[in-house]
Amino acid sequence: MKFATFDWNGARHVGRVSGDGAAVERFDVAAERVREAGVSALIGNPLPKVTQTIRLAEVSLCAPIPRPRRNIFCVGKNYYDHAHEFANSGFDSSAAQGAVPKAPIIFSKVPESVVGPGAAIRIDPTVSTSVDYEVELAVIVGKAGRNIAKADAMAHVWGYTIVNDVTARDLQGLHSQWLIGKSQDTFCPMGPWAVTTDGLDLADTSVKCWVNGELRQESNTGLLIFDVPTIIAALSNGITLLPGDVIATGTPAGVGLGFKPPKFLRDGDVVRQEIAGIGVLENRVERL
Ligand code: MG
Repeated sequence: MKFATFDWNGARHVGRVSGDGAAVERFDVAAERVREAGVSALIGNPLPKVTQTIRLAEVSLCAPIPRPRRNIFCVGKNYYDHAHEFANSGFDSSAAQGAVPKAPIIFSKVPESVVGPGAAIRIDPTVSTSVDYEVELAVIVGKAGRNIAKADAMAHVWGYTIVNDVTARDLQGLHSQWLIGKSQDTFCPMGPWAVTTDGLDLADTSVKCWVNGELRQESNTGLLIFDVPTIIAALSNGITLLPGDVIATGTPAGVGLGFKPPKFLRDGDVVRQEIAGIGVLENRVERL
């Protein structure tokens, strides 16, 4: 099932997206409860009553979780082809550890960096001149847990969405820690909605990204170096994961820095990201 967060008729709502993607069934949930939590307000509760069906074209989609209550957890260098393109790029402050990590590289993005489908990715040339896109499968945690074993990890997953892990490469290279380069305002487009776990086969799900119609990234979640259970086991090692936590699992090759010369984002660019079984997340770049 697909669950969306959207603005309609002057208030925020959550609902279930119809099978053909043309309509959304609005749930009877107070706007207050979903303003920041979005679809994560549904986790662990019986599905609310449907109040009405609205054509999707009439609503304004938001990020499925517009303001996660904690930072978005992210995995770096988690596809072999990207690990190599990044290690050779000159921007990799973790390169000394080798191209392919021995344990998941974990960083985070602040919750305030999240924007929804159709929102602008704002680039500030006084801050960065090398802003890049990264299409990623993101996991939404459904059940709290600490020291979660790999074999039990999938029972803690509620669903999936797409995250564009937008990155200022110059800032990523300058600072050993990646938070500043990854957490700039508007640098975490998320959407277009969340899909429950039955909607995706993690062993074989295609991941694609276009910029202005040019296919730049094309891979499959079956090629992750550290798969979702391994990531959850590593992250929950002493840290209690909570319902609504979002984990971006890493991006494949084909990001802007992988080209010679690099193809960083520019004013007016349109970034379109598609993960099979989820949908399409599209955002336009705006120069401040
Ligand atoms: Mg990334």
